Amino acid sequence: MRIVVKVGTSTLAHKTGHLNIRRVEELCKVLSDLKNSGEEVILVSSGAIGMGVGKLSLKERPSDIPTKQAAAAVGQCELMYTYDKLFSEYNHTVAQLLMTGADFSSEERHNNFSNTMMRLLELDVLPVINENDTVATEEIKVGDNDTLSALVAVSINADLLVLLSDIDGLFSADPRKNPDARLISEVREITDEIMALAGDNGSALGTGGMKTKIHAAEICTDNGCDMIIANGEKPSLLYDIADGKKTGTRFYAKKQM
Ligand code: GLU
Repeated sequence: MRIVVKVGTSTLAHKTGHLNIRRVEELCKVLSDLKNSGEEVILVSSGAIGMGVGKLSLKERPSDIPTKQAAAAVGQCELMYTYDKLFSEYNHTVAQLLMTGADFSSEERHNNFSNTMMRLLELDVLPVINENDTVATEEIKVGDNDTLSALVAVSINADLLVLLSDIDGLFSADPRKNPDARLISEVREITDEIMALAGDNGSALGTGGMKTKIHAAEICTDNGCDMIIANGEKPSLLYDIADGKKTGTRFYAKKQM
């Protein structure tokens, strides 16, 4: 199986912006093991800006673009240093790919990206992808890594995209406010009702929210790829996902004509 796993800032970092070492170590261990068992694994990782905020000791996530881009430049190094170090412990080689929206809209760049990804997978490398936040401007950015990971999954014909988040999946109401909220384990069609369930609040350090996840699900399911939203708190649930066990919310790919 070719699996794209996306991790959000809230999964990777503490609220301080500093790395959640235990979590990241476990994530790298599980992903390495899945690779050892024969799965093809691609990681889309947020956290550049969040990690930069921590490393630069900024009080909060910056709102102005130059500081955000500076934080991303600092944080992306930290992020790749960490992945390189942890995956190396399990004998896996990582590659960094930094993308912008323009790389998906230009046919030539998109082809280059897909070809490079295929070669990296043939070479048994674990690609780690993020948006190129230091250069992305409003006009050319994808904007959030839920959407980015869906574009990546579709470009490389992945079987499955897993969005690891700070929530168990899609709920019938906001579980932080409503005790009766129930987890929706399967979505076969993205109806207006499903769209309406997506609030739009991201966390303090990240950018996403349920809205961008449903949008990612639309991109995936329209293009033959399943998508799961699951809780990144326990990366070991990726084993259950690889075994086909029910976990989080699964959006099924539309049947191709
Ligand atoms: N690319 C951003 C970062 O690495 C994150 C975008 C997102 O959280 O969706 O900080």
